[in-house]
Amino acid sequence: MSINLLNFKGVAFDLDDTLIDRKKAFDKLCMRLVNDFECFSNFSEQEALDFFWGLNSYNSFDINFGLTEIKKRFPNFDLNYQEFYDYYYKNMSEVIEPYDGVKEFLDKLIEKKLNFGIVTNGSHYQYEKINNTGLQDKYNFVIASEIFGHSKPKKEIYIETIRQLNLTLEDVENVLFIGDNPYTDIIGAQSIGMLTAWISMGREYPKNLDPPNYIIENYKELEI
Ligand SMILES: [Mg+2]
Repeated sequence: MSINLLNFKGVAFDLDDTLIDRKKAFDKLCMRLVNDFECFSNFSEQEALDFFWGLNSYNSFDINFGLTEIKKRFPNFDLNYQEFYDYYYKNMSEVIEPYDGVKEFLDKLIEKKLNFGIVTNGSHYQYEKINNTGLQDKYNFVIASEIFGHSKPKKEIYIETIRQLNLTLEDVENVLFIGDNPYTDIIGAQSIGMLTAWISMGREYPKNLDPPNYIIENYKELEI
């Protein structure tokens, strides 16, 4: 299925796994962990990938859960929550790359004056990811949840999205939210009545949830 973005009054994109490749970055992060911490040095590459991916359900890494599980198996892993948080996000922002063609795609959206922005869960590290992937200046606005004060799927962040798109809640049915996480991106956008496009990355949409309006494999099915 392809979607013409010019059919909408406003469009909002998730960042991780929508425009930039967090999956590939997480693989690289696993290798950095093996190199940087003695306690993981006996892992083969495959063992490291299996162990760390096992802590990364639905490609969404929870620092607290991850750290607890690591310490259960490796009591010598001595980072505290804040140190591990900083290690994780600093390294992820260094290794992450945009999907092929995303820069040109965003340039085209700007050239065609599409009303759009990026809405992402996370902290100031999200801006570092944007800068390190060369996507700075390729959007009209970014909302990072920990700076704004509410995360997806809370209604507040979608209402702020409408405001930053210079629209009102009356326009909500003409706004498209595009993201890969059913439980944050899609549920939240549906809760205020936005249209939704889910990036499947080859997965099935969870059967217990209201389906999105569109299912696409990746951003390349978005036309302008
Ligand atoms: Mg995402």
